[in-house]
Amino acid sequence: MMAAGRAAECGADVLLLEKTPRLGNKLRITGKGRCNVTNVAQLSEFVMHFGGTGRFLYGALSRFFVNDLRAFLEERGVPTRVERGGRVFPVSEDARQVTAALEGYLVLNGVRVRRRHPVERVLVDGQRVMGVEACGRASDGCAVVLATGGASYPRTGSSGDGYRLAAELGHRILPIRPALVPLVAQEPWVRELQGLSLRNVEVTLLLENEPIAQQFGEILFTHFGVSGPVVLTLSKQAVDAMAKGQVSLSVNLKPALPAEEMDQRLQRKLDQHGRQQVLRILTQLLPKRMTQLMLDLAGIPADKRGNQVNAAERQSLASLLQDLRLTVEGARPIDEAIVTAGGVDTREINPRTMESKIVEGLFFCGEVIDVDADTGGYNLQAAFSTGRLAGESAAAAAQAGLRDLGSQ
Ligand SMILES: Cc1cc2nc3c(=O)[nH]c(=O)nc-3n(C[C@H](O)[C@H](O)[C@H](O)COP(=O)(O)OP(=O)(O)OC[C@H]3O[C@@H](n4cnc5c(N)ncnc54)[C@H](O)[C@@H]3O)c2cc1C
Repeated sequence: MMAAGRAAECGADVLLLEKTPRLGNKLRITGKGRCNVTNVAQLSEFVMHFGGTGRFLYGALSRFFVNDLRAFLEERGVPTRVERGGRVFPVSEDARQVTAALEGYLVLNGVRVRRRHPVERVLVDGQRVMGVEACGRASDGCAVVLATGGASYPRTGSSGDGYRLAAELGHRILPIRPALVPLVAQEPWVRELQGLSLRNVEVTLLLENEPIAQQFGEILFTHFGVSGPVVLTLSKQAVDAMAKGQVSLSVNLKPALPAEEMDQRLQRKLDQHGRQQVLRILTQLLPKRMTQLMLDLAGIPADKRGNQVNAAERQSLASLLQDLRLTVEGARPIDEAIVTAGGVDTREINPRTMESKIVEGLFFCGEVIDVDADTGGYNLQAAFSTGRLAGESAAAAAQAGLRDLGSQ
């Protein structure tokens, strides 16, 4: 929508082909329906959230960045505000407003929209774009922007078609895998904690018991394992690490305390409340739903009194509080991933224009490209910025193409 609107604003005659009956299906469900549109991080920090391919985005982001996007939305009646972690949301907390603003942009600039029109093929003459085929019908065009999204949440329409279309034209597609995806744990006890969310915990990702990444924040227990911001952020590394060996998570429920102080703190609590049952004492340190489970894991009978807990039991509990281990059995399927890792190789796209280096007149934007970031609004900003640049460049290419045709 951003690419189409921008291309039309730059003077091109634009046709937008959408596979489903409705535009912006995924956008409507972003940020739990509140749409975390972007993040106020500085550009240098912003690109770091994309990992290795972040550099590719510098051009697009520096031309249309956070304040430009916020101004774009505000001009269309969607003021935004900054929340925790620099995350930007519409003041209305309603993702539908963002979709409506983009639809308004299309109408204002005269973009023709055909819904229920899945593109089946990009038509080329040699290495130059000629148009597309949708519903068995060809539409001519000097420039095509492929904005088909990733492969996650396929019911929104983004089911990975763009990877096939690009591959057919000779583009290299880096392996598609889930990123920002919940993880499945082997330990059956996680089910007992289903729905419990813990803030301010530190989670370490381990490969063969060696730490490879760490995040601080919120974790959510589910019927199959764990989710929540910290787990989603670690998930891509977890998925990649699983190909190499045994992966586990260590949850530190008391990250502010050094390991030696944890045991002393526990000892003080047990001494202070020596006549109380240890189950009750633990409620001062943990959410009530976790207490019985932690005692079971530490092998301490729940009805033991504080002053009856021996040193070995206390140390076992202290170590569990700072190193609750979960064996990662796998990730949830890509259908449930917030973003797709992998996609069209950035080395085959010109970062200054978003044009394919293989097919003239073919442009890419958004998640179909091999870029994916942490949660926090980075993915949508990247989609908007690359969309804007692809739209501008496609308009310029279309105008040049028309001039060529005119001179033939
Ligand atoms: C549950 C969820 C929550 C999220 N929350 C956030 C968030 O708060 N902040 C954030 O930054 N990111 C978030 N994301 C990620 C973000 O939504 C995506 O990265 C972003 O939507 C990608 O934009 P896109 O335009 O590339 O693709 P999409 O938004 O997926 O749009 C692609 C469009 O192309 C259409 N299409 C596909 N194939 C064809 C075809 N063959 N022919 C015609 N049309 C086709 C699809 O129907 C769709 O309309 C979230 C994702 C999910 C799943």
